[in-house]
Amino acid sequence: MIHKVIIIGTGPAGLTAALYAGRANLSPLIFEGPQPGGQLTITTDVENYPGFPEGVMGPELMDLFRKQAIRFGTETISLMVDKVDLSSKPFKIWAGENQYQTQTIIISTGASAKLLGLESEKRLMGYGVSACATCDAFFFKDKKVFVVGGGDSAMEEASFLTKFASNVTIIHRRDEFRASKIMQERVLSNPKIDVIWDSQVCELIGDEKKNGLESVVLENVKTNKKTTYNVDGLFLGIGHTPNSSLFKDYLDLDGKGYIITQPDTSKTSLDGVFAAGDIQDQKYMQAITAAGSGCMAAIDAEHYLESIK
Ligand code: NAP
Repeated sequence: MIHKVIIIGTGPAGLTAALYAGRANLSPLIFEGPQPGGQLTITTDVENYPGFPEGVMGPELMDLFRKQAIRFGTETISLMVDKVDLSSKPFKIWAGENQYQTQTIIISTGASAKLLGLESEKRLMGYGVSACATCDAFFFKDKKVFVVGGGDSAMEEASFLTKFASNVTIIHRRDEFRASKIMQERVLSNPKIDVIWDSQVCELIGDEKKNGLESVVLENVKTNKKTTYNVDGLFLGIGHTPNSSLFKDYLDLDGKGYIITQPDTSKTSLDGVFAAGDIQDQKYMQAITAAGSGCMAAIDAEHYLESIK
């Protein structure tokens, strides 16, 4: 069987693409991947999704998206795509034991938070270490936390954390932030926030089976001096990596690995392959913009299918 549309990834972009493709009678198949519902499933309150004046929980919102897509004929598959072959048509996709063939693909695999790459970071993730302040800040009421990074994400995380933590320290590897001026000013004028400049995290100390993270070793990159600080939490705000490795041999990616789409469309460098959401957006990165681009991808796929009839 050759499918008309296969969608890879079930965040707001993928599920909106599925809704529109379903309503266009294209019977989309959607692969849910390792984190069904995408990044919103690890957030709590979403207050900026239009239509929910009181806010909505991230997982609940994604469940509503999913139900709406299924109502119009989307078939969901709870598997990760292991491999694709886009060198000839129909395109081929492998997941689990099966191979699937399709005339079009919508890629909505999103982006994942970057990690420092320390063994201790992996071990203590969820035990004092987090890559999502919105999800985990609540657990650090009246505690002392570090935020790593110097971009807008780190500023946003630090500001948000001050609602809960007693003290927030930003650790940055240089002596100036790259964040926008307004976000920097907000952070630097907040009495609950300090900054340690020119410093890298070199070790996290703690036992995940006991109290979790207990202290962090920082190295000053100018003097190489190492200092240990007692902290309760460490939040990573060092950016995201697009989940594009499956496609790197077939599509044009930018220097950071984001899929390049043609201006004002969801078209990639390959006819019949479309991209939506954070996999092709490093600027807006919002649920509503991802959903909008998912809608564009379904409409672009529909037009493409019409054109090859
Ligand atoms: P970013 O701008 O790439 O900043 C990442 C920060 O982390 C940089 O300061 C970088 O240091 C640091 N960093 C990277 N790898 C590191 C490592 N291994 N160890 C220590 N530090 C490391 O990423 P972002 O802050 O996630 O922002 C991404 C995009 O989203 C930006 O365009 C941003 O404006 C946008 N954004 C906007 C908002 C908003 O407007 N509300 C909120 C969040 C994000 P260096 O500076 O030394 O490179």
